[in-house]
Amino acid sequence: QEQKLTVERREKTQCPYCSMQCTMYLHKKHSPYSSRYQVSPNREDPVVQGRLCVKGMQAHVHALDRNRLKSPLLRRNGKLEPVSWEEAMDWFRRKVTDTQRQAGRDAVAVYGGGSLTNEEAYLLGKFARIGLGTCYIDYNGRFCMSSAATAANQAFGVDRGMTAPLSDIPRAGCIIVAGANIAECQPTMMPYLRRAKANGAVLIVIDPRKTPTAKLADIHLAVRPGGDVALVNGILKVIVEEGYTDEAFLRNHTTGGEALMDYLQSVSIGEAARESGVPAEEIIRTARAYGEAETGWVLTARGVEQHATGVQNVRNFINLILLTGKIGGVGSGYGAVTGQGNGQGGREHGQKADQLPGYRRIDEPEHRRAVAEVWGVKESDLPGSGVSAFEMFSLALERAIRGMVILSSNPLVSSPDVGFVEKALKQLDFLVVIDLFLSETAEMADLVLPGSSYLEDEGTMTNLEGRVTLRRAVKKLPGTAKPDWVILGEMARVLGKGKYFSYSSPEKIFDELRCASRGGIADYSGISYGRIEEEGGVFWPCSRKDTPGEARLFTDRRFFHSDGRARLTPVPHVSLPEPTNDEYPLVLTTGRLMPHYLSGAQTRRTPDLNGKAPEPFLYMHPDRAKRCGLENGQEAHIVSRRGEMVLRVKLTSGIREDTVFGPMHWGGEQCINRLTLPELDPDSRMPSFKACAVRVTPVKVK
Ligand code: SF4
Repeated sequence: QEQKLTVERREKTQCPYCSMQCTMYLHKKHSPYSSRYQVSPNREDPVVQGRLCVKGMQAHVHALDRNRLKSPLLRRNGKLEPVSWEEAMDWFRRKVTDTQRQAGRDAVAVYGGGSLTNEEAYLLGKFARIGLGTCYIDYNGRFCMSSAATAANQAFGVDRGMTAPLSDIPRAGCIIVAGANIAECQPTMMPYLRRAKANGAVLIVIDPRKTPTAKLADIHLAVRPGGDVALVNGILKVIVEEGYTDEAFLRNHTTGGEALMDYLQSVSIGEAARESGVPAEEIIRTARAYGEAETGWVLTARGVEQHATGVQNVRNFINLILLTGKIGGVGSGYGAVTGQGNGQGGREHGQKADQLPGYRRIDEPEHRRAVAEVWGVKESDLPGSGVSAFEMFSLALERAIRGMVILSSNPLVSSPDVGFVEKALKQLDFLVVIDLFLSETAEMADLVLPGSSYLEDEGTMTNLEGRVTLRRAVKKLPGTAKPDWVILGEMARVLGKGKYFSYSSPEKIFDELRCASRGGIADYSGISYGRIEEEGGVFWPCSRKDTPGEARLFTDRRFFHSDGRARLTPVPHVSLPEPTNDEYPLVLTTGRLMPHYLSGAQTRRTPDLNGKAPEPFLYMHPDRAKRCGLENGQEAHIVSRRGEMVLRVKLTSGIREDTVFGPMHWGGEQCINRLTLPELDPDSRMPSFKACAVRVTPVKVK
């Protein structure tokens, strides 16, 4: 009987858990007695051809979780209690109005996320600048891709994660993967590397750990955290001395080459080996493998970028590409392997402190005028540049910022020096969080608004290649939860700015985003929902409806700087901002595990994912553990200058002896970011997540 009454529906959707944006089908089997959901791959997907990883297979589970927030919650007498939307919005209006009346418009800040759709990222930037009139907006991508973005902008004049599509990678003769654990973070990208290897490519992985990605490598360089610049300088030295440079390319398409060559004269391979912890012969072998290959790719990720020198680290890898001219042609390029679900699109449409949509700069009068015109305001109505994500918390502690709106982000787990962030959030007069669950950050809020999951949220995303994709809503929201774009519109309306936010659908927001991006670097003006669906995604830049987007950049060897030339620069090695010493003898580095995503707010609620990694731990080399008096599985006391915690150690010979590793997916007392260092890169304002000094000792039995 049940079988007869069962109705099955199949909807196409897209995994939210990484920048590969794998598409899939969600099957809903519905009968009067039960509803069941299943996932099947989409074999027509132009990027992954039907592949899904374990996270994609389980992504729908968190969206269907019965603990999803179903109504607004307002803090009363210290407790969060359900209230109506009318009450919630009235409270919000009063709080914002009172705070801004007392302390000025900039007293309220906005904090976004790299998992938002392009439409929501765009709308959040507009909400901050027009709805609230504040200069303070930034987002969690500051902690993720900002160093790669700044470096690419400085070197190429444009930041699009990959300079050519993934399908180009199997054509490379040599691939350098630096600080990227693709096998765990973007698993469906691995077949591109495997295909390249099958075609004869040499795969070189640079990582202090022998990760599952490093296990596939022909050469694994176990660099010391903070040693990337020295390592690459050693490689560059060999490239120059052994004649692997592309002189014609350097002469015709770059500037800064001479200064770099001059600097490299002072570099010695022995010194590079000492500073990087990589043997000189391995440096030479790597340089020859990359130099001799006709074509080559360099891929970087957070291991290189999440440092107080993150921009310079990436600039040096780009020096390697430019010195050898391996860019613009088939089989050659650079890629920042973006981490978050919409890490690329999230940084293009104006939720960064210094940016307006279309990757425009907020301090450029011409850029401001272009966006102000689309928004129907005067240029002088737009606030100026604010500060980066971590700096907003510093301002909260100083009471310059007194209220904050956080959308789809969990900074109480994902920020460096979380203890400091906790103190800052407690100083606020009010905190509003829009999310799916009572995350660690939402639990501190005064008002929590129930937002939309990836299954209920419609909009475009931009994958790590720069391909704009479209995800349709396939299920209803739980309770009275609303799509994030609707919530932002309502917040603007109660503040008297509704006329700037009267959209009837995400497509209408996208139509405005396209106009606002016209003529900008990230030009989406020729892209439409119809085109994306018809063509299976459209690459930016795309300025005309009748021409394809640019899948491969720099084919004519012209870069996006006004003179058309790419920039080389000398990058001297500098010591870590927090070097080890007798008191703190080990370097702590942090990162992701395969089953979890970011702060774990979604994946910790998915039993089949959480079961694979149910608790935090610390990876440590067995020889070092022995010297510390620790055995596998034993509890250890880990202390940095900012905090301390107890974690179980897992021994592995796949990590340097001077380094320990802690995953980043847990909050509370065992949040690894209680230990990390908020020293910021001077250009990107990226904190030093990947290196701080710690000591590790056995927990004393009382
Ligand atoms: Fe694809 Fe990434 Fe989702 Fe895995 S986590 S299914 S690789 S989008």
